[in-house]
Amino acid sequence: MGYAQRPERVAVIGVGILGACVGWNLSRHGAEVVFIDAGRPGEGVTDWSFSWVNASNKTARRSYFDLNVAGMAEYRQLAGTIGPGPWWHPSGHLRWADDPAAEAKLLETAELLAGWDYQVEVCAGAEVRRRLEPALTVPGKTPVLFCPDEAWVHGRRLVGRLVGQAVESGAECRAGAAVGDIGIGTDGSVRTVTLSDGSRLDVDVVVNAAGPHASQVAELVARQLPMRREPGVVTRIDCAQVPPVHRAMHAPHIEIRPDGDTSVVLHSREIDALIDTGEDPAELARLLHESARQVVPELGNSRVAQTRVAHRPIPADGFPSVGAVPSVPGYYEAVSHSGITLGPVIGRLLAAEILSGKRDGMLADFRPERFSR
Ligand SMILES: Cc1cc2nc3c(=O)[nH]c(=O)nc-3n(C[C@H](O)[C@H](O)[C@H](O)COP(=O)(O)OP(=O)(O)OC[C@H]3O[C@@H](n4cnc5c(N)ncnc54)[C@H](O)[C@@H]3O)c2cc1C
Repeated sequence: MGYAQRPERVAVIGVGILGACVGWNLSRHGAEVVFIDAGRPGEGVTDWSFSWVNASNKTARRSYFDLNVAGMAEYRQLAGTIGPGPWWHPSGHLRWADDPAAEAKLLETAELLAGWDYQVEVCAGAEVRRRLEPALTVPGKTPVLFCPDEAWVHGRRLVGRLVGQAVESGAECRAGAAVGDIGIGTDGSVRTVTLSDGSRLDVDVVVNAAGPHASQVAELVARQLPMRREPGVVTRIDCAQVPPVHRAMHAPHIEIRPDGDTSVVLHSREIDALIDTGEDPAELARLLHESARQVVPELGNSRVAQTRVAHRPIPADGFPSVGAVPSVPGYYEAVSHSGITLGPVIGRLLAAEILSGKRDGMLADFRPERFSR
């Protein structure tokens, strides 16, 4: 059993993409919402993400792929509801490889995706340069996967937009105050949250959307939420003018996407693997920049502006943990990697569950109870 009645007041603990999406959905359906963030909304891992909205990289389990496809559709709905703007970039995604084994795997994935009715085109490198990205060095005959329905999102701006709208409709936002305690009543249900500024709020529902810190928040209700440790390093590059790339891409050894009018974001799983060797983040940024120049020589004229090592919020089995925890009425989780892709759909489904008590089948494989046994 979760929370059975319509809640009086909901505390959303953590205001990254997940907390913002849950709180915005609750608020627009008339719930009283208080957003609480230890730092500033949208400045957690959401601001240090590659931010690629996709399902093509989520083929390991069909139900997870389907959830991510629903996430992509939800973004289109959201853009229709709140209006597009500098947060939303539905420009597709490119991926190619530079060795025969990786290339064969990519083409196999393209076939699987097409069989699952996913929009995917295989283009030659020359065509990609002519039609889409003239600045790339991709060889003319190399096959490139183009997924036109994929996108990238400016997470911090989207969080700002959603929280701003919710606050205009009466939600409260407490920034710079961490939740340090969750009070439980004699009946075992959630009653209060206590913040690091000493204030205590009466609430009957809490949503744990604390991202990489979600297991600490779970401990406040004596719950174990096992999470993986998977750091990633992300670098922002300042270009003197308009970025020479127009969409997100996975090139060999490097991921590149625009990040606004004059900057570009770089990430690489290969460079992430060096984080635990103790390598200086400035050196990791230099390696990312060097890799990016091999793919887009014009990026050689740009400079590294900011670099951050961020932790992916990944429950131990790699899948989201979303929904009520039946043993603690009033306590809900919204914890997920791929949270940029999944934020809007998780936000809608979880808000509906909190308000109606009904569970959506789309979340059946991603319930928090699987960690309670
Ligand atoms: C390198 C990298 C690349 C990624 N690439 C992608 C991608 O391409 N596509 C994709 O879909 N996903 C990607 N992700 C994952 C995605 O970024 C995350 O899943 C998503 O941003 C998580 O959002 P969140 O709201 O859960 O966490 P956050 O944005 O971290 O928000 C959590 C908030 O909780 C607050 N908080 C923590 N503890 C407390 C407390 N006790 N009290 C109050 N507030 C608290 C923090 O201050 C923070 O603001 C990537 C992640 C990384 C690290």
